[in-house]
Amino acid sequence: MSDSFDVIVIGAGPAGYHAAIRTAQLGLNTACIDKSLGKDGEPAPGGTCLNVGCIPSKALLDASHKFVDARDHFPAVGINVGEVTVDVAAMMARKDEVVKGLTGGVAGLFKGNGVTSLPGTGRLLADRRVEYTSHSGETRVLQAEHVILAPGSVPVDIPPTPLTDDLIVDSTGALDFDHVPERIGVIGAGVIGLELGSVWNRLGSEVVVLEMLEEFLPMVDARIARDTLKILQSQGMQILLGTRVTGATPGKDGVAVSYQTSDGEQTVTVDKLIVAVGRRPFTDGLLADDSGVNLNEQGFLIVNDTCATDIENVYAVGDAVRGPMLAHKGMEEGIMVAERIAGSKPLVNYDCVPSVIYTHPEVAWVGKTEQELKASGEDYRVGSFPFAVSGRALAANDTQGMVKVIADGETDRILGVHILGPQASEIIAQAVIAMEFGACAEDLGLTMFAHPTLSEALHEAALGVAGHAVHMVNRKRK
Ligand code: FAD
Ligand code: AMP
Repeated sequence: MSDSFDVIVIGAGPAGYHAAIRTAQLGLNTACIDKSLGKDGEPAPGGTCLNVGCIPSKALLDASHKFVDARDHFPAVGINVGEVTVDVAAMMARKDEVVKGLTGGVAGLFKGNGVTSLPGTGRLLADRRVEYTSHSGETRVLQAEHVILAPGSVPVDIPPTPLTDDLIVDSTGALDFDHVPERIGVIGAGVIGLELGSVWNRLGSEVVVLEMLEEFLPMVDARIARDTLKILQSQGMQILLGTRVTGATPGKDGVAVSYQTSDGEQTVTVDKLIVAVGRRPFTDGLLADDSGVNLNEQGFLIVNDTCATDIENVYAVGDAVRGPMLAHKGMEEGIMVAERIAGSKPLVNYDCVPSVIYTHPEVAWVGKTEQELKASGEDYRVGSFPFAVSGRALAANDTQGMVKVIADGETDRILGVHILGPQASEIIAQAVIAMEFGACAEDLGLTMFAHPTLSEALHEAALGVAGHAVHMVNRKRK
């Protein structure tokens, strides 16, 4: 094998593997170094997302949702199935199978597209040289014309709650319980905490979520966040806001978790404690002292708008650079960098990054929230539409939530779309497309949507911006 490449990518998560595949497709001699190993000890490209993130969590969210549907909601639509039970081992085995299939798929894509896969660890040296250490410990120095750093992120751990083998776990551990614990504590009511809390709550655990902030989901539109909180509580999740975890003591009866609220110090005992307090960029061992690439105060690799680092022809993408820690954001950065290396000039539109929380109903949004617009004094108009009057949602017996479209008060250009509802993760894509094309609320209103669909709620909310929603009573507006 040659020691010289046009492009070396370090990290094969969504950001890195997209970059590697696209540079190879564009005719560049590409290698990708990744250190992840699967449960079978074999190389498992795909990063956090495929191995311990998006995919396994969605496998469990979908499975646990089907369980609740069958147990609680089938009778209402005329289906009686008797006692519904959970087989945790089978659920986990299926999840692992999905992960294995997808990591194998990335390996296959590397092979098919001519990416040289280098399982092991990469370290950036000066002058675009990369030290590669295989899993068996052999080290070689490779030379690249271009280097793309995509080392991703890892869970943050906090001093009061050091992880243990199986009582105090992070998100990775919470994807692998071998039974349904009776009581679970989740530290952090962020996206990951709520998703994992939902999984185990649905499967029968008593879940208490301990969140330091007074405000629930501050990054979400306030109305949507308020409704989401109520719905999750109605599903049985206990969500304590203004609650700072200060310690955790594992013992034979579980973990005694101490926390501070405005009422003082309190304790709750749980069988498992999930620490979901955020993620940090992972750059341990990535950079030699003279690599020239710099980190900011929070440990993120410093890049400009096009993901170039401070060193020419060295780029960084994904969770390890500024911006939301989301797989699709990293993927688009990976593609952008690959195409720029090959001579094109694409950009990532950071104003149009969709976010999703895969609870049920799902929460999805893109663009500005109403509270942000209010704070910046912008002139805006809002149209909203509840799923409670959507024909398709009623037919499906799944009517919680709403769509909210926010448009510029003068130009009518869509500034933000916020959804709480069934399949919000799918509906939001239509809003992203509209915003990418600079659409006005009226443009969406003039677009024909298939009937009956959940997406019609977006259509009606867009019409509602001008007071023209049809399935709402609105006599005065012209
Ligand atoms: P990563 O996926 O972290 O991949 C980085 C890879 O680089 C890893 O394989 C790592 O081992 C390897 N690596 C690091 N350093 C080196 C080195 N020096 N040498 C060799 N290899 C190295 N995002 C979403 O958009 N949607 C979701 O639904 C979603 N759900 C999530 C659920 C959970 C439980 C978690 C934990 C995360 C979730 N995320 C989700 C976030 C998503 O997983 C990340 O945003 C995404 O994986 C980041 O991609 P990345 O390529 O930047 O890094
Ligand atoms: P996210 O960064 O979206 O994954 O969310 C992590 C959440 O964990 C944030 O909302 C933090 O406020 C919360 N958090 C961090 N530390 C603590 C702590 N000690 N106790 C309770 N919540 C915490």
